[in-house]
Amino acid sequence: MSEYKYNRVLLKLSGEALMGSKEFGIDPSVPERIARDIKPAYEAGVDIAIVVGGGNIFRGLTGAAAGMERAQGDNMGMLATVINSLALQDTFEKAGMDCRVMSAIEMRSVAETYIRRRAIRHLEKGRITIFAAGTGNPYFTTDTAAALRACEIDADVLMKATKVDGIYDQDPISHPEALKFDTISYNEVLIRNLKVMDATATALCHDNHMPIMVFSLDEEGVFDRALRGEPVGTTVIEEDAQ
Ligand code: UDP
Repeated sequence: MSEYKYNRVLLKLSGEALMGSKEFGIDPSVPERIARDIKPAYEAGVDIAIVVGGGNIFRGLTGAAAGMERAQGDNMGMLATVINSLALQDTFEKAGMDCRVMSAIEMRSVAETYIRRRAIRHLEKGRITIFAAGTGNPYFTTDTAAALRACEIDADVLMKATKVDGIYDQDPISHPEALKFDTISYNEVLIRNLKVMDATATALCHDNHMPIMVFSLDEEGVFDRALRGEPVGTTVIEEDAQ
């Protein structure tokens, strides 16, 4: 495993990333590409945990905006993450990688229930472990679930794969002159209200000294390079490490 800087990683994938060029749901070519990207690290023995969002299917806030009770909508959003998790599991297994899905909402005929010690055991046995159903609580996001699980499994780093190739001082899509950070502190992310992760997730990582790397999965092989410690995207670090 020596060529890799990190031994245990939590990869956060947004639900929207799974849509690819589609407007909704899952474009099968995306999970297939993710499988290709993570396979070298999997084969080298890096412990890989994944949290996937559900925004490609349903978001609680969208339901609430349409008049639905927020908690009801959030439960639907969490179930959407289970659908995405099962899709990833299927693709990873077809690619020859051992994979388990653990759900924060009990649904024993579909996935194992999340138990922290059992999750660590799966990782130690070299199984990709996908944490489904977010935190299991409404009013949270899968970013917060990713931060929480990363801390619980004692990951070396939380890697957030988004559509943008790092953290910018303003939205790089509407502001082409936006500047990208190589590194930035947690406080700066919070003070500048940069939309990297929600404030709860950022604060949880800060309090627990969990480094965050942000990059775009559209770049082929970027996950592997990030794991090797190559400078990709933006890394969120402690103030005095800057
Ligand atoms: N959700 C929730 N609690 C959690 C995680 C997620 O209620 O701990 C719900 C929430 O409604 C959210 C939806 O699940 O909008 C999908 O997750 P998210 O929006 O984080 O997905 P992403 O933006 O990463 O695709």
